[in-house]
Amino acid sequence: MSENIEQVRCLIIGSGPAGYTAAIYTARADLKPVMYQGMQPGGQLTITTEVENFPGYPNGITGPEMMEEFKKQAERFGTQVRFGVVTSVDLSKRPFVIVADDGKTLAAETLIIATGASAKWLGLESEKKFMGQGVSGCATCDGFFYKGQDVAIAGGGDTAAEEATYLAKLCKKVYMIHRRDELRASKAMQHKVFNTPNIEMLWNSIPEEVLGDDSGVTGLRVRNVKTGESRDLDVTGFFVAIGHQPNTDLFKGRLELDEMSYIRTKPGTTQTSIEGVFACGDVQDHYYRQAVTAAGTGCMAAIEAERFLGS
Ligand code: NAP
Repeated sequence: MSENIEQVRCLIIGSGPAGYTAAIYTARADLKPVMYQGMQPGGQLTITTEVENFPGYPNGITGPEMMEEFKKQAERFGTQVRFGVVTSVDLSKRPFVIVADDGKTLAAETLIIATGASAKWLGLESEKKFMGQGVSGCATCDGFFYKGQDVAIAGGGDTAAEEATYLAKLCKKVYMIHRRDELRASKAMQHKVFNTPNIEMLWNSIPEEVLGDDSGVTGLRVRNVKTGESRDLDVTGFFVAIGHQPNTDLFKGRLELDEMSYIRTKPGTTQTSIEGVFACGDVQDHYYRQAVTAAGTGCMAAIEAERFLGS
C-alpha cells in the first residue's frame, strides 16, 4: 500500500453522541481512533437549545455545550478529531479505503458509521431564523419547554401524530397542521390524535411564516391550500415533524440499507452487511432517535470493533 495512505485501526465518521461515544470507547481500548466530524460537527444536538433528558446533567446543558464535552472526553483518551467530510468509501475489501476532503486517504481496519439523520424542514426563512428559539424538530426533546402553552406541529405521518399526542399531554392546546385532508399515520395513531380533545386538526393547510420577535416564536401564519385563506395561530412553539433523512448517500450500493435508506444492522448489534463496518446512532435508528440511545449504540459499535480486531 502506498506510503501516502494513512493506516488506522478504527475510523469513525460523524460526531454526534454516537460517534463521540464510539470514540471514547475505542480510544480507551487503544485503537487510536480517527474521527471525521462531517458537515455538522456535533450533529443534530447543536441545533437544539437546552438538553434536559440526558442522564448525568441534573440542571440541563445546552446541546452545543454538551457536544463540546463529548469532544473533550474523546480527545482526552487520544481520539484524533478532524474537521472534515468523508467524500468516498471503498468497502469492497479490507482495509477499507476512505478519502476525505482534507486531501487524506486512509486505510481503515474497522469503520464506525455515525453519520446520523437530518430532520426535514419546510424551507421557510422564518423557520431557520427561529430554530432553537421556538422552532424545533423534536417534541420529545423540547416539548417540556412549552408546558401549559399553545403550540403547533406540522406533518401528517406517524412521527407528527405521536409527537402531537405527546405535546397534548404537556401543552394547553396543539394545532396539528397537515397539507392534505387525511393523515398518512397508522390508523391506531390517527385514533389517538382524533380522541385527544386538545389537538385541533387544521386540514389542507401549510405553515406560511413563523412569527416572532427577540423573545422567540409568538405565532404561526397558516394558509389553507383549498380556500387560499391565511390565519395566524397564537402559539409559542412550532414543531416540524415532516420526516427525517438518514445521511447514507455515501453508502448507497455499498452497504445494505432498509426501504427508508437507513443502514441495516444485525438485530441486537451494530454489525452492518459488511464485516468490520459498524453503524450506530440515528443512521441506523428511525425509531428512538435520542442522544442517549445513540450514545448507547456508539458504545456497542466500539466494543464490537474491538472484539472484531481481536478475533
Ligand atoms: P413520513 O411517514 O414520511 O410522514 C411525513 C409527513 O410529513 C407526511 O404526512 C407528509 O405529508 C408530510 N410532509 C412531508 N413533506 C412536507 C412538506 N414539505 N410540507 C408539509 N408536509 C410535509 O415520516 P414520519 O412520520 O417521520 O415517519 C417515518 C417512518 O417512521 C414511517 O414509516 C413511520 O410509520 C415510522 N414511524 C413509526 C412510528 C411508530 O410506529 N410508533 C413512529 C414514528 C415513525 P403527505 O402525507 O401529504 O405526504
